[in-house]
Amino acid sequence: MQEFSLIDRYFRVRAGKREDVLLGIGDDCALLKVPKNRVLVVTIDTLVSGVHFFADVDPYDLGYRSLAISLSDIAAMGALPSWVTLAITLPKADEIWLQSFSNGFFDLLEKFSLELVGGNTTSGPLCITTELHGFLPENKALKRSGAKVGDLIYVSGTLGDAGLALKVLKKEVDNLSLAQRQHLLRKFNRPEPRVFEGQALLDIASSAIDISDGLVLDLSHILEASQVGASIFVEDLPLSFVLQKEIAREMAYELALSSGDDYELCFTIPPERNEDFLKLCSRFECGFKLIGVVEKERGLQVKYHDNRIFPLARLGYEHRWS
Ligand code: ADP
Ligand code: MG
Repeated sequence: MQEFSLIDRYFRVRAGKREDVLLGIGDDCALLKVPKNRVLVVTIDTLVSGVHFFADVDPYDLGYRSLAISLSDIAAMGALPSWVTLAITLPKADEIWLQSFSNGFFDLLEKFSLELVGGNTTSGPLCITTELHGFLPENKALKRSGAKVGDLIYVSGTLGDAGLALKVLKKEVDNLSLAQRQHLLRKFNRPEPRVFEGQALLDIASSAIDISDGLVLDLSHILEASQVGASIFVEDLPLSFVLQKEIAREMAYELALSSGDDYELCFTIPPERNEDFLKLCSRFECGFKLIGVVEKERGLQVKYHDNRIFPLARLGYEHRWS
């Protein structure tokens, strides 16, 4: 199949039709109109076969997940997503694979009324890059740098499910039922970017980040950028039923603290805004959990309620070059 018929068939068909896209797929560049008094928000993510996903991944999940990951970054800024570009490197033009990838990508894209406005298609080892654009009002954003001493630390959803899913995929855990495995794999393969939650937090939270590399590592980014420290409590970590019931408690804590890929939000709420925040919570299904507090003394303390330090085996996921 030719490059251009491939683009037309699998990417142009469901690209979308927003009014602010003056020129979409088909020319050398897209022409996009940023609304008045809005700032353009941009993020890009690459997924490499063998590093970020297994080569035999379900292509539907890969299409869905690659967009979800960028949406999660937009959510963490409190922004409204608008336009996507997609760079895809394919070892071969497998039509069944492409149709399924495209279905996963567009099923999520349509949930957020986004438009695919361009991209790049090349042959080579499988690799997906999504660049996502969005808007924020001027002088408003959920940055990493806004946390203040005394702010309350919250996370959305549950943590550690994607990490346990990875153990299931690697066959390191085999005592789970089919339903439990499906729950975990769904959380790993189809993360739900907290886009509407992020937007609602824009006027309330003092800082935010999405948890891609593990809570401890990602919360530490907030603490460093804000030049503060924090304590969080393992008994307060939000654990799904599977993590609560089926694995050793310490292992569940370890996964919730340091495994990545959950794409939940971690954010800080000034105590005087907590009541407003709690009112807002009922609008969302994902749930939010108070896990700790921002402190003056630098560094992150992971503790039990009785103040014993939790012995963390690893901090989180970091790419390494040898
Ligand atoms: P150029 O060589 O000028 O960069 P291309 O020939 O690579 O343009 O692409 C033609 C058009 O198709 C461009 O508008 C480009 O943005 C779009 N495009 C290419 N690949 C994709 C893709 N995977 N998804 C969406 N649009 C794509
Ligand atoms: Mg060109």
